[in-house]
Amino acid sequence: MMKKIAVLTSGGDAPGMNAAIRAVVRTGIYHKCEMFGVRDGYAGLMSGKIMPMGVREVGGIIQQGGTVLGSARAPEFKEIAGREKALENLRGLGIEGLIVIGGNGSQTGANALDQMGFPTIGVASTIDNDLIGSDITIGVDTALNIALEAIDRLKVTASSHRRAFLVEVMGRDCGYLALMAGLAGGAEMVMVPEIVVSPEEMVKRLKASYDRGKTNGIVVVAEGAKYNTEMLVQYCREHELPFEIRATTLGHVQRGGAPGAFDRNLATRLGAAAAEKLINGEHGCVVGLIRSEIATTPYAQVVGRTKGIDPDLFRLAEMMAQ
Ligand code: ADP
Repeated sequence: MMKKIAVLTSGGDAPGMNAAIRAVVRTGIYHKCEMFGVRDGYAGLMSGKIMPMGVREVGGIIQQGGTVLGSARAPEFKEIAGREKALENLRGLGIEGLIVIGGNGSQTGANALDQMGFPTIGVASTIDNDLIGSDITIGVDTALNIALEAIDRLKVTASSHRRAFLVEVMGRDCGYLALMAGLAGGAEMVMVPEIVVSPEEMVKRLKASYDRGKTNGIVVVAEGAKYNTEMLVQYCREHELPFEIRATTLGHVQRGGAPGAFDRNLATRLGAAAAEKLINGEHGCVVGLIRSEIATTPYAQVVGRTKGIDPDLFRLAEMMAQ
């Protein structure tokens, strides 16, 4: 049984990370472990920003977006020297295991540490939902609802002015957020990195929808789509359209929301499961939700790969846009 465990959040922050930190700390303490929090992800692990965490330190955070531990991008952790420094700091405090709350890059880092003989376990958390090992990751549901609220509002103003709106949502390599926000928001189209639609085709479809009597046209664009918002706006300006086109980038607004019930409970379940598994000696895997059950997936199946969108859902979004 492990007795001293640390937890960190890493990479892009996601609503619900705090609920996961709280669950990890309280589960550990419930099982008589000494718990530690690492500030600023792997950067803090390398510089030694590791502090004890008690039950009260994680009080009042379940409802907060972001992460109270802070997060950072730390390229030095990709180097063996950086990871050795981190191991020195962990071992210096007698810490025996580490829980990493984060997305693809963060779990790759956790795997690298585990491979060096230090037990780590991952908690699936990223608003992109591109991590293998969880059907849905912590933060996705809240980010989706924030995007949806914006789309609903844009639809109202678009209808009043007969305008088309391009709404850019996050997703560098993955169109999940764009697709699901488009599906839920009744968008005319979604532009995602996985399935390329040309600007010509977009304009053709928007024109056709206006001809069918629609008063608005919403196109949800993932930030990593081949034709990004800027290129699409430029294309529309250069071509005669029967309606005005406007673009809105939601950007970091999507990340900052208070986590909804789904993300809080998902984070609490995954965080508690990760802590209990690590205490009992399970490591080298990501804890996620698969077919509504808590499941572990070995790092080997997680790192270096990403989950794409479901083409059936893309087809469904197209079918609904009539
Ligand atoms: P996310 O976890 O949200 O995908 P990043 O891709 O930015 O975020 O990764 C977060 C951090 O994980 C990086 O800044 C780095 O410290 C660490 N990391 C990413 N890739 C590796 C790797 N190949 N080896 C070790 N650490 C890595």
